Amino acid sequence: MTGLSHTQNQSLKSFNTFGFDVVALQYLPIESPEDLPVLFQAESFKKQPFGILGGGSNITFTQDFQGLLLHNKILGKKIIDQSNDTILVEFGGGENWHETVLYTLENGWGGLENLSLIPGTVGACPIQNIGAYGVEIKDCFHSLTAFHIPSGEFHVLNKEACGFGYRDSVFKREKKGQYFITAVQFRLSTHPEIRTQYGDIQATLDGWGIAEPSIRDISNAVIHIRQSKLPNPAEIGNCGSFFKNPVVSSDIIPALLAQYPDLKTFPAGEGFTKVPAGWLIEKGGWKGYRRDNIGVHAKQALVLVNYGGGTGAQIIALAKEIQADIFQKFGIELEMEVNAW
Ligand SMILES: Cc1cc2nc3c(=O)[nH]c(=O)nc-3n(C[C@H](O)[C@H](O)[C@H](O)COP(=O)(O)OP(=O)(O)OC[C@H]3O[C@@H](n4cnc5c(N)ncnc54)[C@H](O)[C@@H]3O)c2cc1C
Repeated sequence: MTGLSHTQNQSLKSFNTFGFDVVALQYLPIESPEDLPVLFQAESFKKQPFGILGGGSNITFTQDFQGLLLHNKILGKKIIDQSNDTILVEFGGGENWHETVLYTLENGWGGLENLSLIPGTVGACPIQNIGAYGVEIKDCFHSLTAFHIPSGEFHVLNKEACGFGYRDSVFKREKKGQYFITAVQFRLSTHPEIRTQYGDIQATLDGWGIAEPSIRDISNAVIHIRQSKLPNPAEIGNCGSFFKNPVVSSDIIPALLAQYPDLKTFPAGEGFTKVPAGWLIEKGGWKGYRRDNIGVHAKQALVLVNYGGGTGAQIIALAKEIQADIFQKFGIELEMEVNAW
């Protein structure tokens, strides 16, 4: 092929958090950005489909991967610029996300603490503009460096060029499949703003008797809450939230509230309202549903799970049934957050 050493029939079981037992017909770890132009110029490469894998925490493999799977292993951390209150830092796309967050905390740099314990890699964080506990990556994102596959050149994309939205970016839409993200640059703060308003963060800190929390305390609280609420993929296969929270026309909310007074809604811009997908799935009667080796988690209706030995095709079939049922019951379309391959 190119002199870059690839493996055939590589098992992906430990490379996807659902733990699906599939293989990649060809598999190549990418350790350096310089490998990419060499690879994409090779004639043998142009003939086959390819995919980019990070931590496999947002992919449902429905079958063996029929092509060359490029596994992002590009590491690196560097300070680009430092001013009084902020620091511009770059992390290699293959760096583990949570370890990167911990590294920023060790250095006293604030901004990423609410995003602690999200699985995956730095290179994948812009793809769906990862978010949790009132913060999205776009809040401290500065730019990213990516190999642009159609032109064979490296591009630097700023925040505007990434078109971030709720669990969304240009990389899921018009630029899908065009970029291999090799590094991400973040603007972090050395005098961080502490964000405790969302979810149970404040209550957790109160319970611990912490009145003036540091960014490390926020991270610890987020880790504690996530561990108590979300199933650990090391114990039970899953991809976190399987569906996005639907954003619907506010016109339909009064009728829903009349029927379901316990419905919690969130404003989502003029004329639109966000409805929790987990609530819809629970009200639809799916929470704890199990079929063979797959199902809907018993405590977290938004999380589809593989109890072991299940397949991605089974998960997608279940997801489609849930989507159809929720649409029939509530007139609301659920969109998958997880990528089906
Ligand atoms: C238990 C659990 C909890 C989770 N909680 C959250 C949460 O709170 N908030 C949230 O937003 N997400 C959450 N997720 C989803 C997931 O962790 C994120 O979407 C994460 O960013 C995926 O990273 P990854 O490296 O695993 O990407 P992968 O799953 O490997 O890939 C996801 C997509 O990105 C593409 N991709 C990956 N790397 C690159 C690259 N370098 N260049 C171009 N394309 C690339 C892939 O081709 C694929 O389309 C959770 C998942 C789990 C399992």
